[in-house]
Amino acid sequence: MADDTVGKDVSPKSPARGSEVGAPRDQRPGQDDRSKGFLSELFAPVAGFGVSFSTMFRKVATEEYPEKPRPTAPRFHGRHQLNRYPDGLEKCIGCELCAWACPADAILVEGADNDDTPLDQGGKGRFSPGERYGRVYQINYLRCIFCGLCIEACPTRALTMTNFYELADNDRGKLIFTKDQLLAPLQSGMLPPPFPMSDGLEERDYYQGKVSEPTAAQRAYVDARDAAHDEDDAYAGGPGNVGAAVPGAHDLVHSTHPTAAETREGANP
Ligand code: SF4
Ligand code: SF4
Repeated sequence: MADDTVGKDVSPKSPARGSEVGAPRDQRPGQDDRSKGFLSELFAPVAGFGVSFSTMFRKVATEEYPEKPRPTAPRFHGRHQLNRYPDGLEKCIGCELCAWACPADAILVEGADNDDTPLDQGGKGRFSPGERYGRVYQINYLRCIFCGLCIEACPTRALTMTNFYELADNDRGKLIFTKDQLLAPLQSGMLPPPFPMSDGLEERDYYQGKVSEPTAAQRAYVDARDAAHDEDDAYAGGPGNVGAAVPGAHDLVHSTHPTAAETREGANP
């Protein structure tokens, strides 16, 4: 094949004067600009004051935090919350899928069996529909990166994220949130677990939204339960019975849940 470059200038095009990297300092762009203009050089030292002066007449954009916290975006990833069904039973079934999905190993879950044996016969009660519930639930906010993967993994929508973001503390232990801190507070009409499921309904009925409020039988059960125990009884502040999810309330007195220091997570905050 004939070489069609014969006789032609195939050398790289010469770059524009001053545009080549490594060009002499006096050939670089801007040198000419800087070297000319006596007036601009004369006023250059005070040019910054011009910016300051013009800013004085602009609208102040100071955020008055923490007196007036700025609202977050609606889907902001903040502190987690463990949700309840409309009758008050917990949505968490202790499956640990959230803990397995967490890339930062920030979640600790220990499930336990619900127990429908009457309390006066030694039963431990029912805290969620179905077979199991989350007996221990902790999120370590020293590790959490707020990615939301745990939310995606949860099969019952028990775990969601709130818009609360004030999660700073000077005590590392207080940034391991326990179940009583993460549980959604009891809304009006909800009953504090443990108590049986709605009469005649199954676990799947709860998932399908067929429960809207406690039944008369559930109310009667809880009334009888509370009447049988005085205020100091374990069930008055028992597992899953504390509507304590007040954002920022780090100094809550914990219930009979194991504290962070009593678990393997607490040993490695
Ligand atoms: S938001 Fe991400 S890092 Fe935080 S607990 Fe959930 S999965 Fe783990
Ligand atoms: S929060 Fe959801 S994923 Fe995590 S243990 Fe409870 S039910 Fe399972």
